Amino acid sequence: MNNELPYHPPAAMADFAEVIIPLALPLNYTWAIPEELKASAVAGCRVEVNLGKSKKYAGVIKRVHTTPPEFFEAKEIVNVLDAVPVVFESQLKLWEWMARYYMCTEGEVMAAALPAHFKLSSETILVFNEEAGDDFTELDTEAFLVAEALLLRKELKLSEVQQILESNHVYPVVNRLIQGRICYVWESLKESYSPKKETFVLLHPDYDSEAALEQLLNSDPRLQRAEKQMELLLGYLHFQKTEGIISKQALLKKTGASDTQLKGLADKGILVLEKRAVDRISVLPKDIRINFKLSVAQTAALERIRSALEEKDVCLLHGVTSSGKTEIYIHLIEEQIRKGKQVLYMLPEIALTSQTIRRLQRHFGGHIGVYHSRFSQNERVEIWNKVRDGSLKVILGARSSLFLPFQDLGMIVCDEEHDTSYKQMEPAPRYHARDAAIYFASLFSDCRVVLGSATPSFESYSNALNGKYGLVLLTERFGNIELPQIGIMDTRRYRSKEFADTILFPPLAESIGGALGRGKQVILFQNRRGYTPYQRCNTCGWVPQCKYCDVSLNYHKVYNKLVCHYCGTSYPLMVTCPSCGSHDFIQKQFGTERVEEALQELFPGARVGRMDIDAVRGKHAHDQLIQNFEQQKLDILVGTQMVVKGLDFEHVELVGIVDADGILSFADFRVNERAFQLMEQVSGRAGRKHGTGSVLIQTTQPEHPVLLRVQQHEYRALFDDELPKREQFGYPPYTRLIRLTFKNKIRDVVRDAATWFTTGLQDRYGNYITGPSEPLINKVRNQYLMELLLKLPRSTRLIEQCKKDVLYHVALLHQEKRYRSVVVIPDVDPF
Ligand code: ADP
Ligand code: ZN
Ligand code: ZN
Repeated sequence: MNNELPYHPPAAMADFAEVIIPLALPLNYTWAIPEELKASAVAGCRVEVNLGKSKKYAGVIKRVHTTPPEFFEAKEIVNVLDAVPVVFESQLKLWEWMARYYMCTEGEVMAAALPAHFKLSSETILVFNEEAGDDFTELDTEAFLVAEALLLRKELKLSEVQQILESNHVYPVVNRLIQGRICYVWESLKESYSPKKETFVLLHPDYDSEAALEQLLNSDPRLQRAEKQMELLLGYLHFQKTEGIISKQALLKKTGASDTQLKGLADKGILVLEKRAVDRISVLPKDIRINFKLSVAQTAALERIRSALEEKDVCLLHGVTSSGKTEIYIHLIEEQIRKGKQVLYMLPEIALTSQTIRRLQRHFGGHIGVYHSRFSQNERVEIWNKVRDGSLKVILGARSSLFLPFQDLGMIVCDEEHDTSYKQMEPAPRYHARDAAIYFASLFSDCRVVLGSATPSFESYSNALNGKYGLVLLTERFGNIELPQIGIMDTRRYRSKEFADTILFPPLAESIGGALGRGKQVILFQNRRGYTPYQRCNTCGWVPQCKYCDVSLNYHKVYNKLVCHYCGTSYPLMVTCPSCGSHDFIQKQFGTERVEEALQELFPGARVGRMDIDAVRGKHAHDQLIQNFEQQKLDILVGTQMVVKGLDFEHVELVGIVDADGILSFADFRVNERAFQLMEQVSGRAGRKHGTGSVLIQTTQPEHPVLLRVQQHEYRALFDDELPKREQFGYPPYTRLIRLTFKNKIRDVVRDAATWFTTGLQDRYGNYITGPSEPLINKVRNQYLMELLLKLPRSTRLIEQCKKDVLYHVALLHQEKRYRSVVVIPDVDPF
């Protein structure tokens, strides 16, 4: 990390600017600042620059300085686009860190960080905003011309704008049009997201003060003879106190009032009806309302977090499912708002449901903003600006919310910190939002990080055990509800022909029937939609492993072999099980759809919902499904990983894990950690409110050590079981992994390139190299793939050096004619 303070010459003296443009350039270029722009060209502002002969970009000034570039004559900046910087110093530092740590460029980070509206280039297409109307008289002449053209043609390329204005310098005009909402930037790849809208009821701001409200209730003549309306108003005030925001539908249902009575109050200007998206920023009053009491255990945990954070920057809250971690965060957030600081509350994308949002809004009203990759660009820019000017205090968001321009961040909460969706896989920056958040927090004078999980990642847990992080345990569920009883069911008992096609074996089927009979709900978990094939002994459940890598082998259909996808070693197919001597090997694969079918056969009357990527395209469908289940319009929910993300359902009595074998045979060194996390999290959905729930796990390996840990909820013991193996085979937390993926259209070329590259690194890093090998899915979008895994000891200096050497060897590789077109993608901490 670079701790030297950058030198900031007074703006008037700086002749040059280092500018980040949203491309994968290895270095930032320098542009000269013309005299007339010197006052306005400051770090964090966007500038218009030319690159090459004809390309133009809006870039961000990283710093201004006085050193002319050594090897070329700097071109001049064309324009400064922002009067106030779009990002602060801390964002620029985060980008720099991310680029270096994750081996990409600052331009790539910038492209991921900024909403599209801030990114302009020659290829940008402007789209007319139909809500802008057609009255452009307020605009200046140039903007007016472009707006008229947009109204007519609906879409314009920036090059066309240049023609219209007969000028090359159109960015400032375009910028004004975007800010004035006349047009927006078209993004080809993003599907547009139309949020679900509902009508909400609010008290008119005139009655925000106690006095005005009292006057209204006691002596307003408009209410004197309107008893029904008065009743409705009192009902509204009551629900608003207890629930925060209240929808029209809920209000009418709860008070039994009619539409007309509500309309009466609205016409009088006492209540306001507002149609808006559930997760949009709203005009909710910015109040803090903590109307619940922490339990004794929660209070103690909160106190321990506070004191841990006095000494450490990060604290891990390890709290069992349903222990009320959210309630603890709420207290921590409250504290920060009262101090006038900002808070980032990160959670996995899929957990960002209206259920969670409502829960937070209930306590913080208009202090809460939601930042979502699916929001429209306008909405994103709106939040961006409110975070930047400090008017929005709490942001609830998925991993990309880390890029928001926080001014004065006091805390980052990273909920479900073990969740793999914090890691961005594609494209660069391939960052892990939890780890980047810890770095980001260190840039503020007094910002702490709270990581929370019922099943912490082994990285975080070992950091907590070795004293780097504070560690706070919360071992009881809220309301002293027991953790669910976990039954392990040996499906080998049903190996006869009769059960050949059975998916839900009799004990599970009976339990489902029982729960439904009691009017309770059931969740069935089936991992992914079919998984990568593997071989498994049908008698004892044994799965062949690689002897070098400690991972399950994949079954390669084409070659009829077993292959380790880490090191590439191949093995013959198993004929005799070394564990029990049986010859009976099988592969059984099925997805959620099959489970759904099986349910329909067994329980034709049951209402079944399915939650997997296919079934819930779009966030809206996902929310709807959750809501239907919440309101008991569904009896059974069948789902993949999606059902485990922080959902809180009251009436779930039974959770079934349909095929634990599939989970336990993942070809991944983390298989046991992940399997435990998954099963513990799914189990956590059972019996959250009313009495103990139960969980049934179907497996052919009832004595599998991980299942026994799950049964006893023994996270710590699992951690202790697993760590020695991590050390022995050189995996995190003992090492840092870097995976290099090679891509090319020609298979031989990519294979040879990977070998050539590996040979180059052999001398220095031979001990740390695994592979190269061909991944199981070896062809993606017409490109063949090869992979190389580096397992580096945790020495910062060695890792930094290795990253440099890798990049250097990529450059060398590209100097070889045959390998010029081979793409090499580094991924740091890939799993
Ligand atoms: P976790 O995130 O730890 O799984 P939650 O925060 O979802 O647990 O809490 C589980 C349930 O218990 C939620 O319905 C929550 O509203 C309720 N709950 C937790 N703590 C309290 C409290 N102090 N007062 C009232 N309800 C609580
Ligand atoms: Zn066997
Ligand atoms: Zn191997």
